[in-house]
Amino acid sequence: MKPEKALIFELTQPGRVAYSVPDCDVPEVDPASVIPHGMLRAKPAELPEVYEVDVIRHYTELSRRNFGIDNGFYPLGSCTMKYNPKINEDVARFPGFAKIHPYQPEESIQGALELLFTLQNDLAALTGMDQVTLQPAAGAHGEWTGLMLIRAYHESRGEKRTKVIVPDSSHGTNPASATVAGFETITIPSNDLGLVDLEELRAAVGSDTAALMLTNPNTLGLFERQIEDVAKIIHDAGGLLYYDGANSNAIMGITRPGDMGFDVVHLNLHKTMSTPHGGGGPGAGPVGVKSRLVPFLPKPVVGRTDDGVYYWDTDRPQSIGRVKAYYGNFGILVRAYTYIRTYGPEGLRRVSENAVLNANYMMHRLAPYFEVPYPGVCKHEFVLSGKRLKAFGVRTLDVAKRLLDFGYHPPTVYFPLNVEECIMIEPTETESKETLDAFIDTMIQIAQEAETDPQLVINAPYTTVVKRLDEATAARKPVLNCSC
Ligand SMILES: *Cc1c(COP(=O)(O)O)cnc(C)c1O
Repeated sequence: MKPEKALIFELTQPGRVAYSVPDCDVPEVDPASVIPHGMLRAKPAELPEVYEVDVIRHYTELSRRNFGIDNGFYPLGSCTMKYNPKINEDVARFPGFAKIHPYQPEESIQGALELLFTLQNDLAALTGMDQVTLQPAAGAHGEWTGLMLIRAYHESRGEKRTKVIVPDSSHGTNPASATVAGFETITIPSNDLGLVDLEELRAAVGSDTAALMLTNPNTLGLFERQIEDVAKIIHDAGGLLYYDGANSNAIMGITRPGDMGFDVVHLNLHKTMSTPHGGGGPGAGPVGVKSRLVPFLPKPVVGRTDDGVYYWDTDRPQSIGRVKAYYGNFGILVRAYTYIRTYGPEGLRRVSENAVLNANYMMHRLAPYFEVPYPGVCKHEFVLSGKRLKAFGVRTLDVAKRLLDFGYHPPTVYFPLNVEECIMIEPTETESKETLDAFIDTMIQIAQEAETDPQLVINAPYTTVVKRLDEATAARKPVLNCSC
């Protein structure tokens, strides 16, 4: 057996240091003479006293406990953990992008402004919208921004519309953003096919409807075939349509929210456009709008004069204002721009076609072992139900934990809420058939284990540093220095 590794605090030997700095060649001052009294430490920090090699091993060991898309397959439904091509990183590090400052004069950052201007236009073209803001820092931030635009639009027309409708399969951020933007949320149940129930929708709309928030394909991975009827019902009632485009992996170059009748859309560049995500950011959640909402966009947007000079357009009297410091997460925008240029229009379409193909391949191979609550063709993701395994005392959570032993990040589980024992899988287009097959074979093996040796699954994982955590408490009250 491997001996337990000593923790870095246990390696401490007084006097050991991990650094060497030159001798001080300026007069030393007493810290108490320069640091305000209340901010001075009462006693020295209790830091481990170790050699440089111990520090390096400590942090390298910690980093290996992390799981990311560069470690392995990560089929997290709705979250699009696709591979992040490294060329995006190279370009974001070009000194002309990495070393500029947001307060630089416009004439000295024409290249950066051109990139932003082009990205605004590319995203508008991709979504079928008239204008785009790049400011929002994440998907939920984009949702909130879009809803504030909708609010400003209704208010400019002297209308008081207080309600936002969402289907029961919607992403949790949708009702949350609507609430933060000051709306009341109405949730409508989906029909037997997992789609918007038109009768329920008709019953929910009225003169107080501000918007419907929807994603298409929806969170079950199903295309809302009646989207034109849905749009008509909302527009006839004077409401607007909001498209949650966080995950647009199924539609690029194939269809566009603008063509389906949507008025506002946000995109998650950290999902669809392959910029890295996880761990809380940074991300980018640009928002595109149809012309009637353009006057309200956050300012500034990037403009271009007839002479081809790029500038910050701040002259926008009806703007809802700024939604983010400076101009958004510029480094992420550079990565997304690089991704779009690398693939080009044809390439982006192939991305979506392959994302859909991979999801359907996986769904069909897994269908004999797990229930498929909404059979048929899925788009970029699909849901399974682990209901059948309940007879053996095995739940979806156990399947997810068992996957960890095989080196996979589990899929999304227990979401969307309207599917019992839900397992939501999004393979993405960046995985090879061999990777997909290996994961499918593992899922099949776990389904068989559940029948023949359920305890094996119920007690998983066996190979991870920590076993089963109270995940809610772990996130809310993390213990960051435990020796577990
Ligand atoms: C990820 C996601 C969001 C939220 O995006 P964040 O960047 O995490 O705020 C919203 N809607 C859908 C459908 C998503 O998948």
